[in-house]
Amino acid sequence: MGTAVDSLADLLFPRQCSHCDTWDNGWLCPACTSQIEFIASTSMHDLRSFSGVRALTQYTGIVKDVLHRTKYEDQPWRLIRFTSAVIENEPDLKWLDEIDLVVPMPGDPWRTWKRGFNPARLIAKEIVRTTKRPLAHPRWFTRTGSKPQQALSMDERSKRYEENVFRLDKRYLGQEERVKCLLVDDIATTGATLRAATAALTESGLNVEALVLSVGL
Ligand SMILES: [Zn+2]
Repeated sequence: MGTAVDSLADLLFPRQCSHCDTWDNGWLCPACTSQIEFIASTSMHDLRSFSGVRALTQYTGIVKDVLHRTKYEDQPWRLIRFTSAVIENEPDLKWLDEIDLVVPMPGDPWRTWKRGFNPARLIAKEIVRTTKRPLAHPRWFTRTGSKPQQALSMDERSKRYEENVFRLDKRYLGQEERVKCLLVDDIATTGATLRAATAALTESGLNVEALVLSVGL
């Protein structure tokens, strides 16, 4: 269904640059493309709390701006188009053939409800559209949230990540055991969230690869 809607959107709107809004017959114009630091998804990076994350771009200038406008100016279409363009630019996605299930990083429930979307899921959907790998059910892997993240102190935040805030719903598990999951998120800096989410998945016998749209190295 997503593909049909996206195709319709392609017909109705000119393919303007997802960042600067100029029309250039694509979701990223050459000027913006030249300012993005692309990273090959085949290479792995070590963060303070998580080793072996794959990334598509560096979290700089344009990437930051697209994510900011997506999240705080309620423009999810910007991230969808941007991700689509970044994936088109990625030369080697063959390693994704090994993936059995694409799993978006669960959003904080309160924030996701307020926004109406989870950025990680938008990115995961674009990966699914290109690779044809299956997308995890939204209730399969979730995250519990008590109060908005901003209201927590740094100590509370790191403590919360230590707790088991991620949850797998067994009703959606079963045949997925021992599958290779691709955990997808928009941004990784320290890697603390990736570490906690990966731990929750591996404890249930799943194999995990992590891929983020951007990484703050
Ligand atoms: Zn542009």
